[in-house]
Parts: sequence; C-alpha cells; structure tokens
Amino acid sequence: MLPGERNVGGLPCSAVLECLSEYVDGGLPPQLQERVDAHLAACDWCTRFGGEFVRVIERMRDELGRPEPLAVEMAARLRTRLGLDGTG
Ligand SMILES: [Zn+2]
Repeated sequence: MLPGERNVGGLPCSAVLECLSEYVDGGLPPQLQERVDAHLAACDWCTRFGGEFVRVIERMRDELGRPEPLAVEMAARLRTRLGLDGTG
C-alpha cells in the first residue's frame, strides 16, 4: 500500500493506478472497469492524481491520433506523378 492510499470499491489506489491507462483505453474487463469507476468516484486521492493522469494520456492520444498531413500530401503527389506519367 502506498502512503495515503485507501481501499475503496474493493481496490487499493495502487491497483487503480496500475490499470488506469487500460481504463482510459476502455480495455478493462467490465467488472474491473466498474470497480475502478466506483473507486475513482469515492477516492479523493485518485480523483486528483488519476484525473491528471487520465488527462495527460488523453492529450497524448490526441496528439498521436492526429491524421498525418504528410501521408495525405504524399498520396496527392504520387497521384499527380502517376497522372503525368500516364500522359507520356
Ligand atoms: Zn484511490
């Protein structure tokens, strides 16, 4: 147990923090997801710490999930080149 951690909803804070990234992914089994939900709803410490953590993960995911403008540009350039090649 970490200092200041509590056992809420059948889970200690350390267990909740361990599965937070999966929780954000929605990759947890429904039972565990419910327990983490219950824990986060009742535990101030995790709400504060876990809330920050979830926000950071979500921000990272937004950054990584952005469509690559380069790929689009490259595809357009390729199409143009193919078109030019086709006229010859
Ligand atoms: Zn907690």
